[in-house]
Amino acid sequence: MENLSRQGAAHEDAWGRVLEVLKTQVAPGNFETWLRPTRLQRHDGAVLEVRVPNEMFAEWLDSRYSSAIRAALPRVGLDGHRVRFVYETFSATTESAPPVEPTRTTVTVSNPAVPGRRPPLNPRYTFNHFVVSSCNHFAHAAALRVSDDVGTAYNPLFIHGGVGLGKTHLMQAIGNKLASSRPDIVITYKTTEAFMNELISAIRFEKTPQFRDLYRSVDVLMLDDVQFLAQKNATQEELFHTFNALYDSGKQIILTSDRPPRTIPALEERLRTRFEWGLIADIQPPDLETKVAILNKMASSKGWMLPSEVALLIATHVNSNIRELEGVLTTVTAAASMRGQHHPDLAIAREILRTVTRQEEARPTIEAITRVVARHFELKVAELKSKTNKRRIAFPRQIAMYLTRQLSTESYQGIGDFFSGKHHTTVLHAERKIAELRDSDSAVSRLLGELEEQLR
Ligand code: ADP
Ligand code: MG
Repeated sequence: MENLSRQGAAHEDAWGRVLEVLKTQVAPGNFETWLRPTRLQRHDGAVLEVRVPNEMFAEWLDSRYSSAIRAALPRVGLDGHRVRFVYETFSATTESAPPVEPTRTTVTVSNPAVPGRRPPLNPRYTFNHFVVSSCNHFAHAAALRVSDDVGTAYNPLFIHGGVGLGKTHLMQAIGNKLASSRPDIVITYKTTEAFMNELISAIRFEKTPQFRDLYRSVDVLMLDDVQFLAQKNATQEELFHTFNALYDSGKQIILTSDRPPRTIPALEERLRTRFEWGLIADIQPPDLETKVAILNKMASSKGWMLPSEVALLIATHVNSNIRELEGVLTTVTAAASMRGQHHPDLAIAREILRTVTRQEEARPTIEAITRVVARHFELKVAELKSKTNKRRIAFPRQIAMYLTRQLSTESYQGIGDFFSGKHHTTVLHAERKIAELRDSDSAVSRLLGELEEQLR
């Protein structure tokens, strides 16, 4: 074993010693970006509490370096120790919210993640912190209206849109506003998964009546991500009765989903129609200007200086997920400040974007999409890729083109090339046609929902 105590002098704390080991194993750029900004916060028994700039760091470190960290611990005399990453939650400075305690993440090196108890509503998810643009103004206006006119304006309010586009934020903004304007009413926010789990355990422990009483006595029921109801028959059944009870007594129901009710696979007809009784509002992915506006708003609410060229660079490189936008901004700012810079510059932003975009969750490739479509239509991939325009093949090919546009980052040109050199306008046409069919033909929309399910 090499002698580490020599360097130990500069790092008398335990985490510093671990870092010295990691430094010899991790590429220098990665070390500077991800490990240098960490600090020992507390050394309590066999637990090292290591402070990291934000949640993204904790996740990144846990996914990339947990085994290296585990291996390094005994080398510096920390046998049997655990490392726990902690970070401060992104808190609002513009509101007089109470100071936020550092969140203890569930990301630990030696323990599997255990979901912690979370406060029901995130205090940062307010209307004030929501940037309104053409992509979400309709949903925003509807949400505001519901928060002023509970149970009467739009019931239910159904908000749908892609991942990380602000559905949960908007829903909880209604809850937060009501919590202060109408302290008399009972608001329940649940993810569909939590609702389902509670139901399952109620059934198991023969507490179904209590479960029913609980949910049927609220004034506002917010159910997040109802696309998870797909195929959950018992949950759908229960929700149907809860819905009716609440609706009949004029209570407000708010739902979100990553897709409109019509395209949630295997959703009972009677629930679907109920979801469509009130108002359906969608949120579209933000365009470039909106992304820049959101970055500026986030930065200014935190008192961070954000040069416009850096905002633009981040906005261009982060596709359309606002959560990711936020994560990159926080990471870039943290990295700059750890290096003693007053504000992030392009060089730092580029470096972070490089590491982060490489980690991007695997999107399906055009090959994978084509394979799934071919299998569904009982065709060969080669047939879909061939030049023939027989209807039996042309239609599935259009579906594959459409799905590739939806799910991957492939360009029109790239897709055209893949399908034996079709013109990019052919791809554009296919995308429009299938999008229209999805809206007008329920069989097509169900099919697309199923194919997407397989590809996620
Ligand atoms: P979804 O529920 O649609 O997956 P979230 O509501 O969780 O997305 O939003 C992801 C992150 O992006 C949250 O931190 C949220 O505050 C932020 N966000 C989303 N839309 C906006 C917006 N229009 N303005 C400001 N922040 C936003
Ligand atoms: Mg959400």
